[in-house]
Amino acid sequence: MKKALYPGTFDPITNGHIDIIERASKIVDHLIVGVVEKSTKTTLFNVDERINFVLKTTKKIKNISVIRYSGLTVNTAIKNDAKIIIRGLRITSDYEYESEMALVNMTLSKNIETLCLFSSLNYQILSSSRVKEIGALGGDISKMIPKIIIKPLLEKIN
Ligand code: ADP
Repeated sequence: MKKALYPGTFDPITNGHIDIIERASKIVDHLIVGVVEKSTKTTLFNVDERINFVLKTTKKIKNISVIRYSGLTVNTAIKNDAKIIIRGLRITSDYEYESEMALVNMTLSKNIETLCLFSSLNYQILSSSRVKEIGALGGDISKMIPKIIIKPLLEKIN
């Protein structure tokens, strides 16, 4: 069984993340979405809220599970029997960071491969931080995140 881990902060999950989850779930048997408990980034939502949003917005996908984790991503992959780490790649911003992370993870474990999926055209400039910024400034975020997250996000920001 081919298992993969898609790790991230998901603060909150965006349509770009969901696109990666949908596409990755078609190429592996089981996809584990790993929500990092304590990020180096300051998060707007706590880990329970972030997990809850992932669960609610991906429930139609049958071969995924959602976990929380802390510590090294490779260790979480090994612990969960996942040999692949999935990451999303926006051409304008992610290459350097993602390639460095992939190399670090390769150094930490030879048995784990990082697989980067290119972000779809519609989501190339979409990030959780941009959604929060635009939301805070009163812009339209309805095409960036699932509907159920809009209200809680605007409530938190304001
Ligand atoms: P992290 O703190 O691990 O970067 P994020 O939640 O910001 O957590 O992102 C998780 C993964 O999803 C990363 O690989 C990131 O590049 C990818 N990602 C984020 N936004 C998009 C998007 N719009 N399209 C494709 N991939 C994305």
